[in-house]
Amino acid sequence: MRVIDRAIVKALPVVPRRVVRLVAAPYIAGPTLADARRTVARLNAEGKLATVDVLGEEVQTPEEAEAIAAGYHATLEAIAADGLQAGLSVKLTALGLEIDLDLCRSLLGAVVADAAARGRFVRIDMEDSSCTDSTLRLYRELRESGLDNVGIVLQSCLRRSLDDVASLADLRPDVRICKGIYVEPEEIAYRDPDEIRASYLRILDALVEGGSYVALATHDEWLIQRSLERVAGTGRDAYELQFLLGVREQRASELVAAGHRLRVYVPYGDRWYEYSTRRLKENPAIARTIAMATLGRLVPRRG
Ligand SMILES: Cc1cc2nc3c(=O)[nH]c(=O)nc-3n(C[C@H](O)[C@H](O)[C@H](O)COP(=O)(O)OP(=O)(O)OC[C@H]3O[C@@H](n4cnc5c(N)ncnc54)[C@H](O)[C@@H]3O)c2cc1C
Repeated sequence: MRVIDRAIVKALPVVPRRVVRLVAAPYIAGPTLADARRTVARLNAEGKLATVDVLGEEVQTPEEAEAIAAGYHATLEAIAADGLQAGLSVKLTALGLEIDLDLCRSLLGAVVADAAARGRFVRIDMEDSSCTDSTLRLYRELRESGLDNVGIVLQSCLRRSLDDVASLADLRPDVRICKGIYVEPEEIAYRDPDEIRASYLRILDALVEGGSYVALATHDEWLIQRSLERVAGTGRDAYELQFLLGVREQRASELVAAGHRLRVYVPYGDRWYEYSTRRLKENPAIARTIAMATLGRLVPRRG
C-alpha cells in the first residue's frame, strides 16, 4: 500500500461518518431488508448465490442482540418468500457473545433451527482471536445437537487454525477459509503475506483430505488459482468461491461463467460503520476512493 493510502487508513477515525458511508456504499446492500432482498435477487439473476449478514457487531445490550436475532428471522422469512438462493452469515458478537454467552447460545440456536426448518444454511463468521474458542465451542454444540445446516470460518493468519482443523475433524465441518481481517499479535498470527497464503493452502489441503465442503473466501487471484487447482479433483459440489459484495464483481461473474459455484456476502442494516471501515482499509485504492467521494460532495454534479 502506498504511503498516502497508509496515511488515509490511519486517519479513517477522523473521516466524517457521512464520507465513510458514501465511499463504503458499494460494500453494503443498504439499511433495510428490502435493500438486501433486491441485492440478492440481482445476484441470483447473475447466477450468484448469497449469504446475508445483518450488521450489528457493535451491540451493547441484550435487547440490541435480540433485535439483531429478530432481523435474522425476518431475513429467513424474506428469503423463503422470495424464493432466493441465499443463506445467512452470523457474527456472534452481534448476538451478544460479549454480553452473555447463554443469551448468544440461545439466540444462535433459534436462528439455526429456524434456518434448518426452511432448508437454509447458516455460516458463523469468525471474529477476532478473543472470540475463537467460544465460537468453535458453540459451533460444536450445535452440530452435536444434530443441526447440520451450520458452518464455521477459519482464518489462515492464525497459527492455530491447522490445529483447529484437526480438532474439528470428527464433525467433518463445512468451512469458509479466509485470510482473516483482524489485527492480531505476532505470537499467534502470521504477518507475512506469503506465510498467510501458505497457511491458507495447508488448511485447504487438510480440509479436502478430511472430506469437508470448503468455501474459498478470497479475492486474491494467486490464491484463487492455487485453491482451484487443489479442489479440481473433488467435483463441483465439494466447494464454492466466496466474494464480498462490491469487490471484484467482474471477476466473480467470470468465475460463474466458468462453471464455479460462487456466493456473495451481502451485509445490510443500519449498523454499518465498523464493517465499512474494515472494507475501506482493505481497498488498495482507498486514498483515491475517499478523495473522489469527498470531491464529489464538494463539486456539485450537473443536471
Ligand atoms: C465471503 C467472505 C467472508 C469473509 N468472512 C470473514 C470472517 O468471517 N472473518 C474474517 O476475519 N475475515 C473474513 N473475510 C475477510 C478476509 O479475511 C480478508 O480480510 C479479505 O477477504 C481480504 O483478503 P483477500 O484474501 O481477499 O486478499 P487481499 O490480498 O486483501 O485482496 C486481494 C485483492 O482483492 C481486491 N480487494 C480486496 N479487498 C478489497 C476491497 N475492500 N475493496 C476493493 N478491492 C479489494 C484487491 O484487488 C486486492 O488486491 C471474509 C472475506 C470474504 C470474501
